[in-house]
Amino acid sequence: APLLRFAPSPTGALHLGGLRTALYNYLYARKTGGKWILRIEDTDRARTVPGAVEGIQSALEWAGLEYDHGPGKAGPHGPYYQSERLDLYRTYANKLLESGHAYRCFCSPDKLAATREKLARTGSNSTYDKACLHLTEEEAARKVRAGEKYIVRLNDGKLPVRPPGYDLVFKHLKDAHASLPTDPVLLKSDSFPTYHLASVVDDHEMGITHVVRGEEWLPSLPLHLDLYACLNLPNPQFAHLPILLNPDGTKMSKRKGDVHVLDFQKRGWEPQAVLNWVALAGWGVQDASPSSAHRQAPDSTTLMAMDEMIQNFDFSVLTHRRSVLDPVKLEYINKHYLMRLMSTPEGLRALAERAYPYVKDAYPDSPYTTVPYLEKVISALQGRMTKLSDIPSLGPFFFVEPDYSSSEALKMRRMFSSEHCSIVVDSLVSRLSEGVQWETATLLQVLRDENAKMSMLQKEYMSILRHALTGMKTGPSVADVLYVLGPERSLARLQASKN
Ligand code: GLU
Repeated sequence: APLLRFAPSPTGALHLGGLRTALYNYLYARKTGGKWILRIEDTDRARTVPGAVEGIQSALEWAGLEYDHGPGKAGPHGPYYQSERLDLYRTYANKLLESGHAYRCFCSPDKLAATREKLARTGSNSTYDKACLHLTEEEAARKVRAGEKYIVRLNDGKLPVRPPGYDLVFKHLKDAHASLPTDPVLLKSDSFPTYHLASVVDDHEMGITHVVRGEEWLPSLPLHLDLYACLNLPNPQFAHLPILLNPDGTKMSKRKGDVHVLDFQKRGWEPQAVLNWVALAGWGVQDASPSSAHRQAPDSTTLMAMDEMIQNFDFSVLTHRRSVLDPVKLEYINKHYLMRLMSTPEGLRALAERAYPYVKDAYPDSPYTTVPYLEKVISALQGRMTKLSDIPSLGPFFFVEPDYSSSEALKMRRMFSSEHCSIVVDSLVSRLSEGVQWETATLLQVLRDENAKMSMLQKEYMSILRHALTGMKTGPSVADVLYVLGPERSLARLQASKN
């Protein structure tokens, strides 16, 4: 069965690009009955940020992307922190040294910088003059014994012939080391591995079958394939995911604040909607072959629940084109997710429970904030609400008394003559006081009859009542507001509005 891994470096918070990578790992594992691992690539000690692993874990948890093995979830391929696997990388580096595919380089950082500069000045593509390649075995051994620091480099000049690379998303690759440094470093002088050696060793040792990661690693793929070939190991399959762009065409990760997964949680987005949104960035159009013709190509706002995503996912549906992650689409997707959820009693209950903290936070003293009450509020705001955290600003009047002295309220008051208002309000008050069944449909009928009696435009009639009940110009239908507030509060407000 397939085994995948999501391998973030703990250098900061999980961002949307990483979330999409984790999601695709998850989808493929779930679809195929395979597993996926969380592996922490913490070999760059200078860039490791304390708490980053916990942040990544909690972002994955919020999104519901549960990994099968990794930190806190022991499994057969552990340890899952690269910093705990250093012996393994050294063993493999030694293998490469023995076979002549790698060599020790004793050049100091200063000397290397000077060499690089000199080479660049002469217009050369290479970044190292291979000075240490020519050390004899005894010379190198003597330096090691003398305690000289060294790094281990791959010997570019002695690579086995291998087939050109292939990527499940980008397809056939132009196979060149041109963009890579000369004799790339495998082991650093602190005897920590570089990313390249560590990821190749781990992907092999852990038995990874599919490497799914960001496009930024595509240029390193030839080097990784060379390492597998030098070590005489079969390589896994690769799927590189296209870079995500902001709507203005800049790279996503550039505007850090906008892209952290946990910020989306804080701002009240639905995890399912965020997943749906990032999933579709990179989800290409289906081909038109007869077998897939019945599968509608999703566009970038197609709603897919998790089980649909799992069912529809395959590397063949992914595109290598750069995709824009447009916040407007998230709004659309989130809104429709909410509508989908609130259409069942269980979904509505879950939403009310999750909305509770936002309302409690905004109106800590409101006595009305209960889960059953929030269910009614959410239903009334359906279609107006983009995300749950919008509730306090869209419907303050559900929780606190309307502010009839706000500039908006005063402006409306000036628009209607106060006699007009009194007649409308008094008539409705006396009708409601006769007793009506407090259901939206009944209330709507009462309002229609009253409206007809007043011989007023519906727009004007409803505006007067909306103002009386909420102090606001726009909002849910008056019948919905009455229904949510209940008879006592509704009548009290209608009376109060006349003062
Ligand atoms: N540690 C790399 C990163 O955070 C992962 C690359 C990979 O998946 O191989 O981008």
